[in-house]
This record gives sequence, C-alpha cells and structure tokens, in this order.
Amino acid sequence: MDSPTSSDSFKDAPSTRIPNTPAWGDGVVAESFPALAGDAEADVCVVGLGGSGLSCIHELLRLGQKVVGVDAGIVGGGAAGRNGGFLLGGTAEFHHKAIAGLGHARAREIYQLTLDEIGRISADTAATVRRVGSLRIAASDAEERDCDLELKAMLADGFPAEPYKGQEGTGLYFPSDAVFNPLERCRMLAHNAAGDGAELHEQTRAISIGDGKVNTLGGKIRCKHIIVAVDGKLEILLPEIAGRVRTARLQMLSTIPAPEVDYPYPVYRRWGFDYWQQLPDGRVVIGGCRDRFEASEWTTDSEPTDQVQECIESVLRSVVGVQQPVARRWAASVAYSNSILPVLEQPRPGVWAIGGYNGTGNVIGAIYGRMVAQIAVTGESELRAVFEG
Ligand SMILES: Cc1cc2nc3c(=O)[nH]c(=O)nc-3n(C[C@H](O)[C@H](O)[C@H](O)COP(=O)(O)OP(=O)(O)OC[C@H]3O[C@@H](n4cnc5c(N)ncnc54)[C@H](O)[C@@H]3O)c2cc1C
Repeated sequence: MDSPTSSDSFKDAPSTRIPNTPAWGDGVVAESFPALAGDAEADVCVVGLGGSGLSCIHELLRLGQKVVGVDAGIVGGGAAGRNGGFLLGGTAEFHHKAIAGLGHARAREIYQLTLDEIGRISADTAATVRRVGSLRIAASDAEERDCDLELKAMLADGFPAEPYKGQEGTGLYFPSDAVFNPLERCRMLAHNAAGDGAELHEQTRAISIGDGKVNTLGGKIRCKHIIVAVDGKLEILLPEIAGRVRTARLQMLSTIPAPEVDYPYPVYRRWGFDYWQQLPDGRVVIGGCRDRFEASEWTTDSEPTDQVQECIESVLRSVVGVQQPVARRWAASVAYSNSILPVLEQPRPGVWAIGGYNGTGNVIGAIYGRMVAQIAVTGESELRAVFEG
C-alpha cells in the first residue's frame, strides 16, 4: 500500500486543496440517485455506473429491458469520471502493433469501430466533447521511428493521421480524436437513462452477485441477467477473472489556469505514459509516470501518492512548461487485461462481466457496454465476431 498524499508536501493552490478530487468535479451535481432501500426487480441489473455501465444501460433500454443500475459510490465516481478525458481511436496498442497482435482485418475493423464510437459520443453528449484531434509525441529516436511505422499503417488503411512538428515536439497528429469532460458525460448519460425509465441507485454496493440476484445492504435486486461493468478491481468482485485482469492505479493532477502555455491539442508522449491537455479555461490536466513506479502502482488502493505526484509535477514543469500551482491531485483504479483487448466473460450463470481496458476505456468501454447488453439479452452481437475473432 502506498502512503496517501499529504497535501502539505506540495506548494499547491491553497484554496483548492480537496483530497483526491478530479479537475472535472468543479460543476454542481445536478441530480443524484437514492440508495436502494428495499427489494427491486428488473430484467437486467447493471453493477457499475461508469461510462461502460451507462452505455450498457442505454443499449438495454433500447432493447426494451427493465433496468436497475447500482453503484457503490456515485455516478462517474470511478475511473470513468476521473480520467484524462482523451477519446482516442484504436485499441490500447498503436495501430501497427494492433495489426501485429490481432491480424490486419480485425485491427482495421476495431479501429473503425472506435472512430465511429467517438462520433457517437460526440453526437450523444456534444456539450462535453471537443473534437480537436490528438498528438502522439515521440520522446526518443526509437519512438520517432515507431511513429513512422504507425503513420504508414494508418495511411495504408485509410485512417486519418499526419506527421506533426511543433512546440510539443515531433510525432503524429490524429484529427479524428477528441477530448471530453468524462464526469459530465457520465452524469448526462445517467440523467438521460433515468429519464428513459432506468432505475438508478448510488451508494449501493453489490455485496454478492449470482443466482438471479444482486444483494446489497439496502435490499436485493432480482433479475434475469446481471452485467458487471467495473474496470478497476473487477477481479476482486469476481475472483473467477483474476489472472486475466489486474488492477493498477493511475494518477493525475491539474493546475489553476496557466496563461504561460497554450496547448490546442491533447498530447500523449513517451509511448503514452505521460499525457496532458489544456482545458478551454487554461487549466492543465496531466497524468502519467505509472511506468516509473510500476511495482507500487499495481495496487487496488486508489489514493494519490507523493512519489508519483512528484514525478508528474516534474513533467508538468520541465516538459509542459507550466509554472502555475497545482490545484487538484487524484487517482483511480483501472484494470489491465492480459491481451490487447478487454475482457467480456460470463463467469457465473446469468452474470456477465466487462473490463480490463488497459488504461484506455473511454471509447472501447462504451463499445463493450453496448456489446455485452446485446449478448446478454439476445444471445448475440455483431460486435462479438470482431472483438472475439
Ligand atoms: C487517471 C486516469 C486517466 C485515464 N485516462 C484515460 C483517457 O484519457 N482516455 C481513456 O480512454 N481512458 C482513460 N483512463 C481509463 C478509463 O478511465 C477507464 O478505462 C474507464 O473509465 C473505465 O470505465 P468503466 O465504466 O468501465 O469503469 P469505472 O469507471 O471504474 O466504473 C465502475 C463503477 O463501478 C462501481 N463499483 C465498483 N464495485 C462495485 C460494487 N461492488 N457494487 C456497485 N458498484 C461498484 C464503482 O464505484 C465505479 O463507479 C484513465 C484512467 C485513469 C484512472
């Protein structure tokens, strides 16, 4: 276990020292959902109200299902509302590496599906999205050569990418990528799902799952199908999946508005291990450094730590060029799968699980949410052939 960050260790902006709170949490919570009090019935119970679970709920509603959704905390309170806000095409691997790992046809189809999904997210929750593209910046000669390989593979498949040289460094520009406010999107999805008839409960932890019911402290939900849409700590909730997913902590920080820099595009650098974007109000949101402390970051603890925060802050100062104080520091749990692709499994009869997005679940998690809804209800999904090969 890492020691929690003491905010006094840093010269942070004094007015904004709120422990482990993401930059996205500035807005007022427009709606909250009551904890379950008493038993409920549904066709499908969805455990986890992050981006994947909420995408799943919308698909279930489209399929005419009666849905109850529960979250141990609040809507978007996990990684889905605490991440970097990047909406990137493709899998967790760069396109040429996805081709090597998955075969050309599948890698190409999956890339196209993720571009379609970015379009869908932009259309569904337009107010949260900025379609500005993204930059992959090389931090070494070897990475520049890798960018060349990625560019060739992208162009050969007709996907949008171009060489880039600018203040951020040398690399690639992907015009179809986007950024969003991930917490705001979760809240909008939850609000819309409730409006369409889903029964949602926050502060309602699933303590046991199976045999056609989800047990919580407030009551049980009887249902035909249970879908567990939990990324980080999935293997704790469903130990059958341990060995195929493993939980890690990712950490970020944000500054007050930083007029000394002007970054129009979100940037990921050094093989994607460091990433930042500047928000329209000038604040810089930055994460990374997990690879530098790998041993301690394979953990189910989700509090920020001094050593990783110091590392991110040194990138902020030396690479990104920001001098303004830090306003927020936060962390969250995600799961890595033992493959390029996430997991979609039925670990118990009537129980489906998705997760293990390898640190990039905003886009592919939404697709998996839709896919698992279709499989649970209809027994099939066109998406399954693509993802399962
Ligand atoms: C710091 C950081 C930066 C990241 N940056 C990016 C990025 O820029 N782009 C990108 O694509 N991805 C990024 N990711 C990864 C991405 O955030 C996740 O893959 C994605 O949000 C997972 O969403 P989810 O809905 O599947 O899971 P989660 O967001 O983890 O949601 C699961 C929900 O389930 C709830 N839950 C857990 N256990 C129970 C239980 N027993 N009962 C009821 N509810 C339960 C939790 O409270 C949580 O709200 C980042 C992650 C982090 C942490």
